[in-house]
Amino acid sequence: MTHSNYHTHHRLCRHAKGTTIDYVQKAIDLGFKTLGMSDHVPSDLLPDTMRMDASELDAYIEDVRAVQKAHQDTIKVYLGMECEFLDPNPAYYERFLSRVDYLILGQHYVKEAAGYQSAFALSTDAQILEYGKTVETAIESGYFSMVAHPDLYMCGIDAFNEAAKDTAHRIIKSAVEHDIPLEFNANGIRRGIKETSQGMRYPYPRMEFWEIAKTYPVDVMLSSDAHHPNKLYDDAMKEAEQMIEQFGLKRIHTLKMKHLKNRL
Ligand SMILES: [Zn+2]
Ligand SMILES: [Zn+2]
Repeated sequence: MTHSNYHTHHRLCRHAKGTTIDYVQKAIDLGFKTLGMSDHVPSDLLPDTMRMDASELDAYIEDVRAVQKAHQDTIKVYLGMECEFLDPNPAYYERFLSRVDYLILGQHYVKEAAGYQSAFALSTDAQILEYGKTVETAIESGYFSMVAHPDLYMCGIDAFNEAAKDTAHRIIKSAVEHDIPLEFNANGIRRGIKETSQGMRYPYPRMEFWEIAKTYPVDVMLSSDAHHPNKLYDDAMKEAEQMIEQFGLKRIHTLKMKHLKNRL
């Protein structure tokens, strides 16, 4: 069963529907005890338009805090954000950490000499290894309370080769050492199954990654990565739950927030 979700978006990111109250209302209907909002942080570095503008940060924070307070007797609402680890400046992260309850690492890019390469379309061993190094360094930074879709880096590649395995071990080991959960992300299931040269598969969750993860004592957290209130607990979530069970992964339901502000 699922009574919580800590990876939830907000219409401010321009590719999700609904504001905090829409998600919270749905979570209450589902009997959830906890809902963490975690919209994408604004970024000056990234070229996409998939995130709120810096000028909208206050509105996001006020929206989540208001709903958190208004519904505190019914459901625990937490204010989180999903953030890339690309900016070398600690002040970038501290700016969010000083105001939110938790950050989740959502690494959708790797940095290259030529600019930012989408992690959905990595194609070389060097890029895969760079992804692993970036996530490991992010975990070590202490800024993040969970690693979102840690298996996203193999989206564009069919063969789970040595570089892919090395990267999996590196990410998983580091998560164990720093006591931070890896997310099993249901949104990859929503993206649909595709025929590849290695058989049918989802872009993520990537089975080969979780085969390695199950050999470690790593905490695993199921997330919806909801971009619509109706996705908080849908068929993709149910399928993901079954997969976690089949792998025998060590599932946790409560996120340990390293920077929690408001204990309600
Ligand atoms: Zn998103
Ligand atoms: Zn997300």
